[in-house]
Order: sequence, then C-alpha cells, then structure tokens
Amino acid sequence: MEIGAGDGARALQRILGDLPGELRLQHALGPYTTFRIGGPAWALFSPAEPQALAEAVVRARAHGFRWRLLGGGSKVLIPDQGFPGLVLTTAHLQGWEESEGVIQAGAGVPLARLARRGLWKVAGIPGTVGGAVTMNAGTKYGSISEFVVWVRALMPDGYVHTFLPHECGFAYRDSLFRRLRLPVLEAAFRPAPGPSVDDLLRERRASQPVGLPSAGCVFRNPPDGPSAGWLIDRLGLKGLRLGDAVVSEKHANFICNLGRARSGDVLGLAEHVWERVGRECGVWLRLELEIVSG
Ligand SMILES: Cc1cc2nc3c(=O)[nH]c(=O)nc-3n(C[C@H](O)[C@H](O)[C@H](O)COP(=O)(O)OP(=O)(O)OC[C@H]3O[C@@H](n4cnc5c(N)ncnc54)[C@H](O)[C@@H]3O)c2cc1C
Repeated sequence: MEIGAGDGARALQRILGDLPGELRLQHALGPYTTFRIGGPAWALFSPAEPQALAEAVVRARAHGFRWRLLGGGSKVLIPDQGFPGLVLTTAHLQGWEESEGVIQAGAGVPLARLARRGLWKVAGIPGTVGGAVTMNAGTKYGSISEFVVWVRALMPDGYVHTFLPHECGFAYRDSLFRRLRLPVLEAAFRPAPGPSVDDLLRERRASQPVGLPSAGCVFRNPPDGPSAGWLIDRLGLKGLRLGDAVVSEKHANFICNLGRARSGDVLGLAEHVWERVGRECGVWLRLELEIVSG
C-alpha cells in the first residue's frame, strides 16, 4: 500500500528518533544541492557519527523505505516533487586523522580541504569525500582513486567492510560503491606533491561557470573522439534556455540555474541537447548528472 508524505515522515521519525543526529521532516532538499533545485524529502537525517548513518540505513531497509545519500549535492538533480523516503546527509561526518603520510577523512569532509593537503588532482571539484569516492571524481590531471589507500563502506548485511584500492572497482566516474549503492563512511588517502592549488583553481575559474548554480558536467565525455562540451558548442547551443535553465556560455557541458529553474527545465534542456548532438553529430551522449528519482 502506498503511504503519503505525512505518514511516511512520522513513521521515519519513530524509526530513527533515537539515533544521534539531526532529523528534519518534510524538509526541502534544494538548499543542500549546488543546483539549488529540489523539493522535500519525507525525512532528512544528518547522523552525528558513522555508526548512526549505518544504523539508519539498516533500519530504513528493514522497514522498506526508499533511502538516498547526499554529500555536497554537487552531482545530483532532485525533482521538484522531492523524494518519497529518507535522505541521509553526511554533513556531520567530519572525522580527520593524519599519520605516517596518510590522511583518514570522514565521508562528509569537503574535497577542497583534501585538495589543499596533497590531493591536488581533484582541486576545484566541489563535494565531499563520500561523493567523490563514489563518483571517482577527477579532472584532466587524474582522479581521486589515484590517492586512495582504503575505503570503509557499509555492506548490505549491515557490516562495515574496508576495501583496498583494487577492490573498489574504480572506473571513469564510477566505482563499486556507486554500482552497488554502498554508503561510504570514511576513506584514507596518500597525498602526493603537485603544482600550486591556487594556480589550478585559477585555471578552472577561467573555463567553468563557478559563479552560477549547476551540477558540473551534464554528460560524460565519449570514450573516444571530441568531448561532450566541444560537440555541444559546435552546434551553437551555448546560451540556449528553457525557463531559468541555460546552457552555460562558458562551458557548453554545464547547465546553470539562473535563479528559479525547476527540475523539469533542466531535464527538458538536457534532453534537447542530447537529441541535437545525437541527430546532428551521431554521438548519443550518456548522462553524468545523476537524476534522483522517487
Ligand atoms: C561547478 C562544478 C564543477 C564540477 N567539476 C567536476 C570535475 O571537474 N570533476 C568531477 O568528477 N566532478 C565535478 N563536479 C561534480 C561533483 O562535484 C563531483 O561528482 C563530486 O564528487 C560529487 O560529490 P558530492 O559529495 O557533492 O556528491 P553528491 O552530489 O551529494 O552525490 C553524488 C552521488 O554520490 C552518492 N553519495 C554521496 N555521498 C555518498 C557516500 N558517503 N557514500 C555513498 N554514496 C554517496 C549520492 O547518493 C549520489 O549518488 C562538479 C560539480 C560542480 C557543481
């Protein structure tokens, strides 16, 4: 039997109410995303510690609730209707330890902090440790997987497992954690010397629309041939607008929110771009942006 948002929220409060952390009911998700788009979740829980996150996921599963993790919300598009279930944020999982050249960081630690401590290849990528490991986030210099020593994640049976790099299934913007939807609780990284992070950030600011809300690249780059941005630019689609969603003038593979964009505006625009590139360039792009569905 389908249950409504009010009943769902109350049930989740009963199930999670004793866990340490912040629980908000029927809470808008837009402010937790870099797109600034998205309706309410039945419940939004920010666990105070990794064990509470693990326990919340175990309980949500046991009671048959849909659940999703949200890190920095910099790769997701949340529908205006919101999410009919539990959303867990890792905002409070900020553990940090350094020893013998290895940094151990909680899932919610901002990537920016690690970039300044030797993970220079991911400098300029917004988001968190959990989101970056899951997406195997990277730049033209390389990806986060190159720094990973181990990743601790929650298994479907409720146990926590420590994965060594070769067990993480890292690929281009992909990992085992993404494919199996395993919550990442923390990870350890070995930093490496590199160029000045300030120079890398300047370089990115010159080529990406960092001032407007977006979720980074909308489409994956094809495995060979020109990049998605190059193809979209070639068709003259920069500046194309639907509602308050616009194809960025600065980087054609970005869609930006000019202020009041709705999720449907972003989706409609992305679909139009996808179809034009497919029909006119013969390349059917794949989405990199993650659409959160109910
Ligand atoms: C301006 C801008 C520039 C960007 N540039 C780049 C770039 O150069 N390279 C690049 O790779 N990306 C880029 N991105 C995309 C994005 O920042 C990265 O993918 C980032 O790693 C996402 O991290 P997040 O914490 O925001 O994840 P979210 O957007 O919160 O989540 C992304 C996915 O990871 C899951 N997730 C989040 N936390 C966890 C966790 N603890 N355990 C398991 N799953 C989890 C979510 O459920 C979701 O499926 C850019 C985004 C923006 C807005």
